[in-house]
Amino acid sequence: MILDITKGKDNPILRQVSPKQGPITKKTLKLLKDMEDSMIATNGVGIAAPQVGMNTRIAHITINKTQVFTIINPEIIAKSKETEEDTEGCLSLPGKWGPVARAKELTLRFTDLTGKKRVMKFKDFEARIVQHEVDHLNGTLFIDHVPEGMLEIEGGLAL
Ligand SMILES: [Zn+2]
Repeated sequence: MILDITKGKDNPILRQVSPKQGPITKKTLKLLKDMEDSMIATNGVGIAAPQVGMNTRIAHITINKTQVFTIINPEIIAKSKETEEDTEGCLSLPGKWGPVARAKELTLRFTDLTGKKRVMKFKDFEARIVQHEVDHLNGTLFIDHVPEGMLEIEGGLAL
């Protein structure tokens, strides 16, 4: 089911730190499926639960260009010093894009769909998506990282 995307830079749902996701229930799996449908319907490459109105620490990212990958209670445990700047947009901030510097590589600890704890490395665009979604779980939006006066009204991919 396609859900409404929570929008607005001052929206309280988007601006709070989401609490940890507990054990994965049927309800969680339904939410994950709805989040996937909503991300695909809006051509997003990532989505976090607050973007569909739920404050819990789960997100989807796109890996290998088309594969939807679920991260539950994600924690970035290491980041490269090297950063890369690229244009970002957000499903929750339609019509806005801007340059954001992100770590080029990172190590993520998270729980997968089967409840198993995992550690995985991500780099380049996938690392960017991870950082954008983890920001969402902490109430941070990409515009917080865009230098003053650098917001654009057209651009590329939304996360
Ligand atoms: Zn976003």
